[in-house]
Amino acid sequence: MLSRHRFWLLGVALLFLSGALYASGLHRDEGEIALTDVAVVIDPGHGGRDPGANINGLLEKDITLSVAKILQGQLIRREASVLLTRSGDYAHPNYKKELAERSRLIEKVNPDVLISIHINKFPHPGCFGGQVFYQEGSIKGEKLAEKIQTELIRIQPENRREARSGDYYLLREHPRTPGAVLEIGFISNPIDRQRFQSADEKEAIASAIVAGISSYVAEGYLARNSATD
Ligand SMILES: [Zn+2]
Repeated sequence: MLSRHRFWLLGVALLFLSGALYASGLHRDEGEIALTDVAVVIDPGHGGRDPGANINGLLEKDITLSVAKILQGQLIRREASVLLTRSGDYAHPNYKKELAERSRLIEKVNPDVLISIHINKFPHPGCFGGQVFYQEGSIKGEKLAEKIQTELIRIQPENRREARSGDYYLLREHPRTPGAVLEIGFISNPIDRQRFQSADEKEAIASAIVAGISSYVAEGYLARNSATD
Protein backbone atom coordinates (compact mmCIF):
# COMPACT_ATOMS: atom_id res chain seq x y z
CA MET A 1 0.00 0.00 0.00
CA LEU A 2 1.27 3.47 -0.86
CA SER A 3 0.79 5.28 2.41
CA ARG A 4 1.11 9.02 2.87
CA HIS A 5 3.17 8.29 5.93
CA ARG A 6 5.77 6.55 3.81
CA PHE A 7 6.15 9.49 1.49
CA TRP A 8 6.34 11.88 4.39
CA LEU A 9 9.18 9.86 5.88
CA LEU A 10 11.10 9.63 2.64
CA GLY A 11 10.11 13.06 1.41
CA VAL A 12 11.85 14.93 4.19
CA ALA A 13 15.19 13.25 3.51
CA LEU A 14 14.72 13.55 -0.23
CA LEU A 15 14.00 17.28 -0.16
CA PHE A 16 17.28 17.92 1.57
CA LEU A 17 19.31 15.54 -0.51
CA SER A 18 17.88 16.38 -3.93
CA GLY A 19 18.26 20.09 -3.14
CA ALA A 20 21.90 19.60 -2.27
CA LEU A 21 22.55 17.51 -5.37
CA TYR A 22 20.79 19.98 -7.65
CA ALA A 23 22.87 22.78 -6.21
CA SER A 24 26.03 20.85 -7.02
CA GLY A 25 24.82 20.08 -10.55
CA LEU A 26 24.62 16.33 -9.96
CA HIS A 27 21.10 15.92 -11.29
CA ARG A 28 19.90 13.26 -13.70
CA ASP A 29 21.61 13.14 -17.09
CA GLU A 30 19.55 13.36 -20.23
CA GLY A 31 18.56 9.92 -21.48
CA GLU A 32 18.64 8.30 -18.03
CA ILE A 33 15.36 6.73 -16.93
CA ALA A 34 13.77 8.73 -14.10
CA LEU A 35 12.90 6.72 -11.01
CA THR A 36 10.66 9.49 -9.71
CA ASP A 37 8.93 8.49 -6.47
CA VAL A 38 10.25 4.93 -6.63
CA ALA A 39 10.85 4.17 -2.96
CA VAL A 40 14.00 2.16 -2.36
CA VAL A 41 15.30 0.87 0.95
CA ILE A 42 18.98 -0.05 0.86
CA ASP A 43 20.26 -2.34 3.59
CA PRO A 44 24.05 -2.27 4.02
CA GLY A 45 24.72 -5.72 5.51
CA HIS A 46 26.18 -6.03 9.05
CA GLY A 47 27.63 -3.10 11.06
CA GLY A 48 28.98 -2.24 14.51
CA ARG A 49 30.32 -5.26 16.36
CA ASP A 50 29.35 -7.52 13.48
CA PRO A 51 31.95 -7.05 10.71
CA GLY A 52 30.51 -9.78 8.45
CA ALA A 53 33.01 -11.52 6.20
CA ASN A 54 36.54 -10.22 6.57
CA ILE A 55 40.03 -10.83 5.36
CA ASN A 56 43.32 -8.95 6.00
CA GLY A 57 41.51 -6.16 7.84
CA LEU A 58 39.06 -5.59 5.00
CA LEU A 59 35.56 -5.81 6.46
CA GLU A 60 32.28 -6.64 4.74
CA LYS A 61 30.39 -4.08 6.88
CA ASP A 62 32.59 -1.21 5.54
CA ILE A 63 32.30 -2.23 1.90
CA THR A 64 28.52 -2.72 2.07
CA LEU A 65 28.07 0.73 3.64
CA SER A 66 30.34 2.39 1.12
CA VAL A 67 28.56 0.80 -1.87
CA ALA A 68 25.16 1.56 -0.28
CA LYS A 69 26.02 5.26 0.00
CA ILE A 70 27.22 5.44 -3.61
CA LEU A 71 24.04 3.64 -4.68
CA GLN A 72 21.94 6.05 -2.63
CA GLY A 73 23.54 9.03 -4.41
CA GLN A 74 23.00 7.51 -7.84
CA LEU A 75 19.36 6.67 -7.09
CA ILE A 76 18.61 10.15 -5.75
CA ARG A 77 20.09 11.60 -8.91
CA ARG A 78 17.44 9.55 -10.75
CA GLU A 79 14.80 11.12 -8.47
CA ALA A 80 14.09 8.00 -6.41
CA SER A 81 13.22 8.21 -2.70
CA VAL A 82 15.91 6.38 -0.78
CA LEU A 83 16.34 5.26 2.79
CA LEU A 84 19.26 3.31 4.29
CA THR A 85 18.68 0.87 7.16
CA ARG A 86 21.94 2.20 8.62
CA SER A 87 24.06 5.16 7.58
CA GLY A 88 27.07 4.59 9.82
CA ASP A 89 29.10 1.87 11.50
CA TYR A 90 26.64 0.78 14.16
CA ALA A 91 24.30 -2.04 14.97
CA HIS A 92 22.58 -3.51 18.01
CA PRO A 93 25.05 -5.76 19.91
CA ASN A 94 22.61 -8.60 19.31
CA TYR A 95 22.46 -8.85 15.53
CA LYS A 96 19.13 -10.71 15.64
CA LYS A 97 17.62 -7.66 17.34
CA GLU A 98 19.32 -5.39 14.81
CA LEU A 99 17.73 -7.36 11.96
CA ALA A 100 14.34 -7.12 13.69
CA GLU A 101 14.80 -3.31 13.86
CA ARG A 102 15.70 -3.15 10.16
CA SER A 103 12.70 -5.33 9.43
CA ARG A 104 10.39 -2.94 11.32
CA LEU A 105 11.78 -0.02 9.29
CA ILE A 106 11.06 -1.86 6.04
CA GLU A 107 7.54 -2.61 7.29
CA LYS A 108 6.97 1.07 8.05
CA VAL A 109 8.36 2.42 4.79
CA ASN A 110 6.83 -0.31 2.61
CA PRO A 111 9.27 0.32 -0.25
CA ASP A 112 8.82 -0.53 -3.93
CA VAL A 113 12.25 -2.15 -3.91
CA LEU A 114 14.46 -3.54 -1.15
CA ILE A 115 18.16 -3.99 -1.84
CA SER A 116 20.28 -5.72 0.80
CA ILE A 117 24.02 -5.61 0.11
CA HIS A 118 26.42 -8.31 1.26
CA ILE A 119 29.80 -9.81 0.35
CA ASN A 120 30.51 -13.50 -0.02
CA LYS A 121 33.44 -15.51 1.35
CA PHE A 122 34.56 -18.99 0.37
CA PRO A 123 37.58 -21.14 1.32
CA HIS A 124 38.55 -21.47 -2.36
CA PRO A 125 40.05 -18.09 -3.41
CA GLY A 126 39.18 -18.76 -7.07
CA CYS A 127 35.43 -18.19 -6.44
CA PHE A 128 34.46 -14.72 -7.63
CA GLY A 129 31.59 -12.65 -8.95
CA GLY A 130 28.36 -11.09 -7.75
CA GLN A 131 25.22 -13.16 -7.25
CA VAL A 132 21.71 -11.96 -6.53
CA PHE A 133 19.16 -13.84 -4.39
CA TYR A 134 15.38 -13.52 -4.08
CA GLN A 135 12.69 -14.99 -1.88
CA GLU A 136 11.33 -18.25 -3.26
CA GLY A 137 7.84 -17.62 -4.69
CA SER A 138 8.25 -13.86 -5.11
CA ILE A 139 7.74 -13.27 -8.83
CA LYS A 140 8.69 -9.60 -8.58
CA GLY A 141 11.69 -10.40 -6.39
CA GLU A 142 12.87 -12.97 -8.89
CA LYS A 143 12.49 -10.53 -11.78
CA LEU A 144 14.34 -7.81 -9.86
CA ALA A 145 17.14 -10.24 -8.99
CA GLU A 146 17.47 -11.38 -12.62
CA LYS A 147 17.65 -7.80 -13.88
CA ILE A 148 20.37 -6.87 -11.39
CA GLN A 149 22.28 -10.12 -12.07
CA THR A 150 22.30 -9.31 -15.81
CA GLU A 151 23.80 -5.89 -15.08
CA LEU A 152 26.40 -7.27 -12.65
CA ILE A 153 27.53 -9.65 -15.40
CA ARG A 154 27.67 -6.78 -17.87
CA ILE A 155 30.41 -5.15 -15.75
CA GLN A 156 32.17 -8.48 -15.02
CA PRO A 157 31.60 -10.68 -18.10
CA GLU A 158 33.63 -13.62 -16.72
CA ASN A 159 31.01 -13.99 -13.98
CA ARG A 160 28.72 -16.91 -14.86
CA ARG A 161 26.55 -16.83 -11.75
CA GLU A 162 22.76 -16.77 -12.00
CA ALA A 163 20.09 -15.20 -9.82
CA ARG A 164 18.82 -17.77 -7.33
CA SER A 165 16.32 -18.13 -4.51
CA GLY A 166 17.91 -17.96 -1.09
CA ASP A 167 16.94 -17.97 2.55
CA TYR A 168 17.59 -14.50 3.97
CA TYR A 169 15.82 -13.08 7.01
CA LEU A 170 14.82 -9.71 5.52
CA LEU A 171 13.40 -11.30 2.36
CA ARG A 172 11.61 -14.00 4.36
CA GLU A 173 10.05 -11.40 6.66
CA HIS A 174 8.77 -9.31 3.73
CA PRO A 175 7.60 -11.79 1.10
CA ARG A 176 5.39 -9.17 -0.60
CA THR A 177 8.17 -6.57 -0.85
CA PRO A 178 10.08 -6.97 -4.11
CA GLY A 179 13.52 -7.51 -2.66
CA ALA A 180 16.94 -8.84 -3.53
CA VAL A 181 19.98 -9.77 -1.50
CA LEU A 182 23.12 -8.94 -3.43
CA GLU A 183 26.30 -10.82 -2.67
CA ILE A 184 28.29 -8.36 -4.79
CA GLY A 185 31.40 -10.53 -4.94
CA PHE A 186 33.82 -12.58 -2.84
CA ILE A 187 36.07 -10.97 -0.25
CA SER A 188 38.14 -14.19 -0.48
CA ASN A 189 38.95 -13.54 -4.16
CA PRO A 190 41.89 -11.19 -4.89
CA ILE A 191 40.30 -9.57 -7.96
CA ASP A 192 36.92 -8.97 -6.31
CA ARG A 193 38.78 -7.68 -3.25
CA GLN A 194 40.59 -5.16 -5.43
CA ARG A 195 37.27 -4.03 -6.90
CA PHE A 196 35.88 -3.40 -3.41
CA GLN A 197 38.83 -1.10 -2.69
CA SER A 198 38.49 0.97 -5.86
CA ALA A 199 36.15 3.98 -5.90
CA ASP A 200 35.59 3.59 -9.66
CA GLU A 201 34.74 -0.10 -9.36
CA LYS A 202 32.31 0.59 -6.53
CA GLU A 203 30.66 3.29 -8.68
CA ALA A 204 30.39 0.69 -11.47
CA ILE A 205 28.77 -1.85 -9.12
CA ALA A 206 26.27 0.79 -7.93
CA SER A 207 25.54 1.81 -11.54
CA ALA A 208 24.85 -1.83 -12.39
CA ILE A 209 22.37 -2.07 -9.52
CA VAL A 210 20.65 1.15 -10.68
CA ALA A 211 20.50 -0.21 -14.24
CA GLY A 212 18.90 -3.41 -12.93
CA ILE A 213 16.29 -1.48 -10.91
CA SER A 214 15.63 0.80 -13.92
CA SER A 215 15.06 -2.15 -16.20
CA TYR A 216 12.68 -3.71 -13.62
CA VAL A 217 10.76 -0.41 -13.41
CA ALA A 218 10.74 0.05 -17.20
CA GLU A 219 9.03 -3.33 -17.60
CA GLY A 220 6.15 -2.20 -15.38
CA TYR A 221 6.80 -4.37 -12.33
CA LEU A 222 6.13 -1.51 -9.94
CA ALA A 223 2.34 -1.74 -10.20
CA ARG A 224 1.03 -2.87 -6.83
CA ASN A 225 -1.65 -5.42 -5.94
CA SER A 226 -1.31 -7.00 -9.36
CA ALA A 227 -1.23 -10.68 -10.22
CA THR A 228 2.56 -10.48 -10.34
CA ASP A 229 2.89 -9.52 -6.65
ZN1 LIG B 1 26.83 -10.57 4.85
